[in-house]
Amino acid sequence: MSSVLEEVLAANAAYAADFDKGDLPMPPGRRFAILTCMDARLDPAKYAGLSEGDAHVIRNAGGRASDDAIRSLVISYKLLGTREWFVIHHTNCGMETFTDEVMRGLLASSLKTATVDASGWHDSGDGPGSSEGHYIDWLTIKDNAQSVVEDVTRIRTHPLVPADIPIYGYIYDVKSGELVEVPEATRAGAAQS
Ligand SMILES: [Zn+2]
Repeated sequence: MSSVLEEVLAANAAYAADFDKGDLPMPPGRRFAILTCMDARLDPAKYAGLSEGDAHVIRNAGGRASDDAIRSLVISYKLLGTREWFVIHHTNCGMETFTDEVMRGLLASSLKTATVDASGWHDSGDGPGSSEGHYIDWLTIKDNAQSVVEDVTRIRTHPLVPADIPIYGYIYDVKSGELVEVPEATRAGAAQS
């Protein structure tokens, strides 16, 4: 067995041994949702003070308002009653380090893990790669605050999102652990009554 697999199963056995949250209702008790990046340095349960059953956390590369993130947010309010949403990107996000063109080139070259240095990303694997990467919008980030504004605006103006859900825009600082508001995003996401 891989050591990661062993570690995960051991950790889970310890978690389940004194588990006492088996009776939580499905709808999030604190009625809010967070859309944030999958970055391993971010722990939304810790940075936002969540316990099991409190909130929805939707994660993807960049914390972007992709069609699939919006699918989850729509389910979150329509079926499970959330009333406030956060979009939280972060400093030093990997999504700032490449473009669609770079990612497509790396994937066309090989499917091995690429390397990065001061001059950018390089593919050192043996091919074949695949041109399938050309059909994906990788939703990369040029400007962190701007990407939060764009995502909050996209969610705010989506026809399946009700106007009375406020959407707050923040950037998590990976150096300090702080959430820093993007006021323009929060303004764009304000609830309209
Ligand atoms: Zn990130």
